[in-house]
Amino acid sequence: MGIKSFLTLAAVSISVACVSSFNSGEPVSANMAEPSATPAKTKTIREITFIEGEWDGVASTVTDAEWKKLLTAKEYYILREEGTEQPFTSELNKNKKAGTYYCAACGLALFKSEHKFDSGTGWPSFYQPAYKKNVVDKEDRSLGEIRTENECARCGSHLGHVFDDGPEPTGLRYCINGVALRFKASS
Ligand SMILES: [Zn+2]
Repeated sequence: MGIKSFLTLAAVSISVACVSSFNSGEPVSANMAEPSATPAKTKTIREITFIEGEWDGVASTVTDAEWKKLLTAKEYYILREEGTEQPFTSELNKNKKAGTYYCAACGLALFKSEHKFDSGTGWPSFYQPAYKKNVVDKEDRSLGEIRTENECARCGSHLGHVFDDGPEPTGLRYCINGVALRFKASS
């Protein structure tokens, strides 16, 4: 427990420090390849460390102020304010490549391509998490109904909701915001 806790804090501190130092001194997006040619198409993708396997560590302690610095406005709205992206806007919705979907905030492995299906809803949909412990269910009483919200087990970020109208073998439909996911193809 003590060691895990320390390691988690260290990892978080390092990632925050990397982003801070990366941004300092280059106020306009340091990783834009062609800053003046196609500014509308370029966007800063934060580097995150992908974490494989079932998560049994402690939750991260990144503060709200730190998340605001780390995430884009859209990511912050969805991941930290439980927002929902417009349907059919994520390129991951139709993604059929083999690979793993990680938390866009902290990099924890959340879903796998073999559990993905086309639900027709416009959001990436899965019938089970990559690892049971990595996706946490939580009661959501917003919108005047009781739904089951999903959060990342490591950083507590909002991912989407799970419903019981999914396909076999689980009958579950994890309806996940593409903004909350980072996809990495298996090589
Ligand atoms: Zn996370």
